[in-house]
Amino acid sequence: MEYRFSMLANKLKSSMIRELLKYASVPGAVSFGGGTPDPETFPRHELAELAREVIEKEYKYTLQYATTEGDPELIKQILILLKRVYNLDGLLPENVLITVGSQQALELVGKVLLDPGDYVIVGDPEYLGALSAFRMRDARFLVVKFEKDGPDLNQVEDHLKRAQRENELSRVKFIYVVSNFQNPSGITTSLEKRKNLVELAEKYNVLIVEDDPYGVLRFRGEQLPSIMNFGGTDRVILLNTFSKILCPGLRIGVVVADRQIVRKMVLAKQGTDLCSPSLTMRLTARYLERYDVLEQIKPAIELYRKKKETMIEALKEEFSDVTDAQWTDPDGGLFVWTTLPDVDTMEMFKYAEQRKVFYIPGEAFKPYEEPSSSMRMSFCLPSFEQIREGVRRLKQAYLDYIEA
Ligand code: PMP
Repeated sequence: MEYRFSMLANKLKSSMIRELLKYASVPGAVSFGGGTPDPETFPRHELAELAREVIEKEYKYTLQYATTEGDPELIKQILILLKRVYNLDGLLPENVLITVGSQQALELVGKVLLDPGDYVIVGDPEYLGALSAFRMRDARFLVVKFEKDGPDLNQVEDHLKRAQRENELSRVKFIYVVSNFQNPSGITTSLEKRKNLVELAEKYNVLIVEDDPYGVLRFRGEQLPSIMNFGGTDRVILLNTFSKILCPGLRIGVVVADRQIVRKMVLAKQGTDLCSPSLTMRLTARYLERYDVLEQIKPAIELYRKKKETMIEALKEEFSDVTDAQWTDPDGGLFVWTTLPDVDTMEMFKYAEQRKVFYIPGEAFKPYEEPSSSMRMSFCLPSFEQIREGVRRLKQAYLDYIEA
């Protein structure tokens, strides 16, 4: 049968990450590929007990349809958490929308803001899931280099100026940025750049979409104010998720935005799924009421810190003799970004596969397809010994590649 798929469907490609991770389950492999948190950090007993409770006692809510905006009990808890985490005041329930993970929030942002051919300013490298959500809207990317302290703001302004000159500024809809420990680079946007980004957004009248799934997972240094602290809901749409601080399986994402934007996203969400799952919304609400999520995540953060250090030490040990080899040393999150000069990490992948070590080639995070000499290495799942062994194998794979 030759199905007549839509133009959009014909453009869809399977995610490189998903394809590559198939290899990672071979016996004896060390995988730095997956970006998922360590399941041992999920509070499963507490959640199991609460799940029984909310199903038995609150079945009229948890087994029923919910409103599209989300569970009011959860929104109440989220407003408390937003005050604690970001010191954001003055937010009302109307400023919040609960989504099915922040991935759905990215899709909805695309649906309510982007027409085909509109522009989005994104980083190089950039979070793959955001790129695919915006690609689904046929958006065009204005790409800026992600430097050691966040997006290159000169490039941001150059893009905005050019758009203005060409009378296309109104088609530049937003600047997307993962402000803390970016996926994939681990880079945090500096305080200075956060402020300047808001100034630029105001000067050229564009929005900023700040995506912050990792901010709470800081294991070193002082927390920085969010971009929303500088730009407010007028200028910034803030996305967050419980995937990394509680568990991804509940699929609870959060949008904080101006009420007009939330309203449009609610309408768009109605056409997608009517509402987020009542059961996991209420379960999360009761969890937040009973336990301190910021406390319960602390041992996990400490574990990630130690694993990150192990990875950095191993990289130093193995790659210090490789001229110009570089890696980021993140202050939090789940990823180290390693760059090997003159290497195409997609090409190197087959050598890594033979050595049974896996990473995600940087090419996956390029807004437009092009080779990359970088790779994303996640340190959260492998054990300490696997991290050391994996980096040793990576060096071998690198040498195989260079010699071939
Ligand atoms: N944004 C970023 C930057 C991410 O890294 C992820 C998860 N990998 C998401 C959004 C989506 O997370 P979720 O849908 O689980 O909330």
